[in-house]
Amino acid sequence: MAADERAVIEGVNGQLLIGGEWRDATGGGTLSVEDPSTGGTLCEIADATPDDAKAALDAACDAQAGWAASAPNDRASLLHDVFKLLGERVEELAVLMTLEMGKSVAESKAEITYASEFFRWNAGEALRMEGYYKPAGNAASRVLVMRQPVGPCYMITPWNFPMAMGTRKIGPAIAAGCTMVIKPAQLTPLSMLKLAELLQDAGLPDGVLNVITSSSSGAVSAPIISDPRLRKLTFTGSTEVGQKLIEQSAQGVLKTSMELGGNAPFVVFEDADVDDAVEGAMIAKMRNVGEACTSANRFHVHEDIAEEFATKLAERMGALKVGRGVEDGVDVGPLIDDDQRSKVAELVDDAVGKGAKALCGGAARDGAGYFFEPTVLTDVPDDANLLTEEIFGPVAPVRTFRTEEEAIDAANATEYGLVSYIYTNDIKRGIRVCEALETGMIGLNQGLVSNAGAPFGGVKASGIGREGGNEGIFEYLETKYVAINV
Ligand code: NAP
Repeated sequence: MAADERAVIEGVNGQLLIGGEWRDATGGGTLSVEDPSTGGTLCEIADATPDDAKAALDAACDAQAGWAASAPNDRASLLHDVFKLLGERVEELAVLMTLEMGKSVAESKAEITYASEFFRWNAGEALRMEGYYKPAGNAASRVLVMRQPVGPCYMITPWNFPMAMGTRKIGPAIAAGCTMVIKPAQLTPLSMLKLAELLQDAGLPDGVLNVITSSSSGAVSAPIISDPRLRKLTFTGSTEVGQKLIEQSAQGVLKTSMELGGNAPFVVFEDADVDDAVEGAMIAKMRNVGEACTSANRFHVHEDIAEEFATKLAERMGALKVGRGVEDGVDVGPLIDDDQRSKVAELVDDAVGKGAKALCGGAARDGAGYFFEPTVLTDVPDDANLLTEEIFGPVAPVRTFRTEEEAIDAANATEYGLVSYIYTNDIKRGIRVCEALETGMIGLNQGLVSNAGAPFGGVKASGIGREGGNEGIFEYLETKYVAINV
């Protein structure tokens, strides 16, 4: 590792943050964080135990009443300050994120900017937690509705967006007056640890945010989730783990938010501008090395333009530079680990074995790091596994359709319903198809939907609840109704 990269890693406090204090794990256990571009160890950090998890929840519960009573103006100012701090520190934070997660520094900067927007947006929301007062049906009563913080929250985040998946939860929780314990993924905990330092620098009171890192997610989460003082569980990750957590949350009837897996269709109609669609496809497919819940997983293209679309997409994807994300000019970093690379390779091999053709890429790269070549597949058969499974890699399977009805059926043929992309220049068709798609979000002639000011979330097996937009703060607020006799 270069000296400047080493300095960035050494600048992270690898301890647990509990009640405003940085401390080692009980028993002194540590876990290793790896650089996916080399397979080498970046550093050792604290490996929390269930006792540490309980201590973190104790701290959040102790801080809750004081934090709920703080002035919304003060919470808004703090959120503005963190937004600014992230902007000032973006260069250093981007290198850190790239070292632990792999994507290019440019992409890490984009994630940090996106992550910071949840602080700016929620600074406004802190002042807009509106209730209402209105007449009741009878002359003797009035209805008063107020919003109050839910209470202590437990947040579990995935490795693919190490900071933004946390700020989508932390921003509204701070605005609403909730305290929290957050557990980032063990593969990419460093960006969240650094963000916690920044929040302390901005003046977040002790105990409002507590961070635990652990190699035993289930063991440290169970005592928190089963504790009757916890009021909310918010999770971003796979549907499989989300389902387990919903079961565990049922015991305490916890308020839950679940941002789960996706299998996004990218539909290109014959009236679309093919170059625009290819441009959008590059974003929808290649953002985050394809390791995004919003990643276009299946391309359904009208048969009249499918060859042109696939050829142009393969030219663009085949020209991308693959390498260590910290190096200049690199577009595509490694996948997160060997398991993920093997899974992508298996999906591609399965499709090719069943008759698909690779227009570019098609294989993992030999040598250190978990690199996979950007790949475009055509002639993908119905039974190829990558049509039903989340690929989470730089692989674009292209299929064809003939009619609008066929395209809608193909797009909806999944248990997931997070995001869909449609390219068409026919406004009536655009609206018709948007209405017919079973999905929480749609990119209409646009390959990116993520936006702090919009409600992000899915239907079907993609989740429960929304993060961001006017809706996001309601995940952290309870509604209380007072019946008033006048
Ligand atoms: P994952 O395996 O479900 O892990 C997500 C988080 O859950 C990690 O922090 C993980 O900890 C933790 N975890 C795992 N098992 C647990 C358990 N039994 N109890 C408590 N926590 C547990 O998902 P991932 O591989 O990190 O992320 C990829 C998935 O996330 C994809 O399916 C993707 O679509 C989805 N995702 C969805 C959204 C969205 O907004 N809808 C956004 C991003 C990603 P450790 O890893 O530390 O063990």
